[in-house]
Amino acid sequence: MLRTHNCGELRLEDIGKEVTLCGWVQRSRDLGGMTFVDLRDRYGLTQLAFNMETNAPLCKQARELGREFVLQVKGRVTERSNKNPKMPTGDIEIIATEIKILNEAQTPPFTIEEETDGGDELRMKYRYLDIRRDMVRKNLELRHKMALETRKFLSEQQFLEVETPVLIKSTPEGARDFLVPSRMHAGQFYALPQSPQTFKQLLMVGGLDRYFQIVKCFRDEDLRADRQPEFTQIDCEMSFVTRDDVLETFEGLARHLFKAVKGIENISFDRMSYADAMKYYGSDKPDTRFGMRFTELNELAKNKGFQVFDKAELVAGICAEGCAAYSRKQLDALTDWVRRPQIGANGLVYVKYNEDGSFKSSVDKFFDQEQLKAWADAMVAKPGDLLLILAGDTAHTRKALGELRLEMGKRLELRDPNTFACLWVTDFPLLEWDEDTQRYYAMHHPFTSPLQDDIDLLATDPGMVRANAYDMVINGVEIGGGSIRIYDRPLQEKMFEVLGFTPEQAQEQFGFLLNAFRYGAPPHGGVAFGFDRWCALFGGSESIRDYIAFPKNNAGRDVMIDTPSVIDTEQLKELHLKLDKQAKSE
Ligand code: ASP
Repeated sequence: MLRTHNCGELRLEDIGKEVTLCGWVQRSRDLGGMTFVDLRDRYGLTQLAFNMETNAPLCKQARELGREFVLQVKGRVTERSNKNPKMPTGDIEIIATEIKILNEAQTPPFTIEEETDGGDELRMKYRYLDIRRDMVRKNLELRHKMALETRKFLSEQQFLEVETPVLIKSTPEGARDFLVPSRMHAGQFYALPQSPQTFKQLLMVGGLDRYFQIVKCFRDEDLRADRQPEFTQIDCEMSFVTRDDVLETFEGLARHLFKAVKGIENISFDRMSYADAMKYYGSDKPDTRFGMRFTELNELAKNKGFQVFDKAELVAGICAEGCAAYSRKQLDALTDWVRRPQIGANGLVYVKYNEDGSFKSSVDKFFDQEQLKAWADAMVAKPGDLLLILAGDTAHTRKALGELRLEMGKRLELRDPNTFACLWVTDFPLLEWDEDTQRYYAMHHPFTSPLQDDIDLLATDPGMVRANAYDMVINGVEIGGGSIRIYDRPLQEKMFEVLGFTPEQAQEQFGFLLNAFRYGAPPHGGVAFGFDRWCALFGGSESIRDYIAFPKNNAGRDVMIDTPSVIDTEQLKELHLKLDKQAKSE
């Protein structure tokens, strides 16, 4: 090897050793008589010292070194007179005796330090330089640890890691597919998997019993901030299990990761039905680090002469503890906030529960003190609290109040990134009605089993059927989701029928699965976790990009390799493709 030690490991006990280090020049300081160079590698920084008096030629050479030059340095480990307690190697330095420049470097386009001057795009373009920064490297180390611990835990539980194909068949359900034209089969296409869903089910038919895979998935969706067209799942499936078996197994995985990666023990999981999540939090992924649950006030607030409430389908509110002293200005700002198009409320009603027990509200004209007291009691409010109330149709009101709840949680610092509240949301609706296409879509996917109790409703009132599906939610972030699957052919056929497939279409698209179900499919269920997101959550970041070595930007481009890109006419011809005029001119 070109080195005897790395740049992060030398300590006082190594004093006197002759060592060889390799790394990059982080920075150098020329103090006249002495020149210091910080040498960096993945493991840390070590200070190199050059003395003008004892070795002038070498000191001169050190002065010429540019940032990011790659060096091999020989020298002796010595105790520093000026120790740096912030650096693990801060007690020592290397009195260099020889420098070999392994490679020169141009001045990098941004500084490779904790606080960088590189904007997002610049850092993405030179991602290999960005990766030299501590923060990015630490994120990739965390990701590695997460993957390793996931594999350890699941292997111990008898899960087999099996690879499923990347070139698969396009299906009309779910998100849009990325397509790959076939050269050998003119006019035909492969699709990249949105998930290995059907394959993992077939592995269960194949008797593998427990499968997992840390796997790339591809979805050609309109890009939102923090979505990547390719992302990674921890994909899992189990046979002969009930829902609770699945939930308990993966609570085990979560507990293991919390302990192994974050050093946190005693993680517990709540369970909440989708119906309750919507009713009390206005979201199917509630942040349960704090309370502030909704109270519905229809009984107490409607039909008392206040038009806005009387016309509303739902009147509901939250209690912001200790906020009764909010000023007029603060309340106006909050009202503007809920009126923004992203939130979409028409207005905000407030009630201040003053310290002296009296009430002051924005609807004093319509409600007397006694009525306001009844609301406060329903919301379990105390003097000093502020009630915030929205009204309108149920779905919008819940959504807006949910956003307001999160905002108040943030303002009141109730969303501590070092606290983790874990939850399963269960019993999602099986189907969603789409007005545009006038048909039902599977809310999770078409292979999800309805709840046993609701199967009869499939024929009479499909919209009311609940699914045996669940999401894992941590701190308001959906970390994963799954379901118990349909495993008998007639029910799967019925499901396709409800989704508007003719039997021929069902056979054409999913014949392989329906056929497999003829040959003894075991009851099975599973889950998939968003691996990038889980890493980001554990790393304390909102952005999954920070945890992906080479991410795409918000427009779905890789600005480093510059793709998507144009291909030449020959290649197009081979693939039997023709671009239309518009695409050509773009
Ligand atoms: N394949 C599903 C998904 O990607 C997860 C599952 O049902 O296991 O969302």
